[in-house]
Amino acid sequence: MTLRGGIDLGGTKVQAVVVDEANEVRGQARAQTPLRGGPPAVAATMAGALREAAEQAGADARELTGVGVGSPGQVDDAAGTVSSAKNLTDWAGTFALAQALRDDLGIDEVRLSNDVGAAADAESRLGAAKDAASFLGVFWGTGVGGAVILDGVRWRGRGFGGEFGHMVIKLGGARCPCGRLGHVEAYAGRGALEAKARELQDKGEKTVLFKLMEEKGRDRLTSGIWEKALRQGDEVAEQLIERGLQAIAAGAASVVNLLDVEAVVLGGGLGIRFGEPMAERLREAMLPHLFVDQRPPTVRVAELGDLGGALGASLMVAKAPSPAPAG
Ligand SMILES: [Zn+2]
Repeated sequence: MTLRGGIDLGGTKVQAVVVDEANEVRGQARAQTPLRGGPPAVAATMAGALREAAEQAGADARELTGVGVGSPGQVDDAAGTVSSAKNLTDWAGTFALAQALRDDLGIDEVRLSNDVGAAADAESRLGAAKDAASFLGVFWGTGVGGAVILDGVRWRGRGFGGEFGHMVIKLGGARCPCGRLGHVEAYAGRGALEAKARELQDKGEKTVLFKLMEEKGRDRLTSGIWEKALRQGDEVAEQLIERGLQAIAAGAASVVNLLDVEAVVLGGGLGIRFGEPMAERLREAMLPHLFVDQRPPTVRVAELGDLGGALGASLMVAKAPSPAPAG
């Protein structure tokens, strides 16, 4: 049996998987992303999680044929580096992540990919978009990530294609975490949602959001907290999520008008947490913006959940199936 690894590096956790030739998960492990020690500490944690996943699969990490990594920040696979990973502590500069993992794990083939791109590749090959040649992936979480797959291939443009969260949906609108105005993420990103919720509470509006955060001992409004507040009928939560959804819908409809993709796949922490009912709301909210509205794309929830990023990363080091014999 040939085994290979995949690691998804996130701001709060590291998820590692070990898969076989059929992309079945044989081992998985998760660790907290270290908040101290900078990139070397993060790399060590990643290697540790992968070793644990390999052990679960009954193998030694050195026996893996390769490891793929999905990372935030600016990822340069050819150089093996990750730069400006702002969700991670002390990672403003450039770090040779691939080499650090090679040295630590004793594996020659280490490949790097953008985290959102890896998750989209996994949905494309193994998940919700298996049967769709072309789709838009929307990863609704702390930020709003995106990926465009056209005829089975992820469109990268000159390297930064697919930045759905930074589509302009309102001229001169709210300020996005990237500093520009009116982007989707300025309305829908969890960071932006939290800032707006705080602003409304400070103005005297009642909301259970921050009370739930305290009860759960969290320091930010997690997807679970938003979901619970919605279930309790919290008006501020409902109003802000609806506003975020409308922003995503306007952006997604514009992508469909431009590229006529068959499907929209909704993933990310919030997307997966809200699930099917939110996918249905997104479908409805896109309709008024669609130029050809008698044939809307399907809207689906990402299927691979928390493992999607790591699975997608592992696809980078999959051996291409051998070509069929000629004749
Ligand atoms: Zn932006």
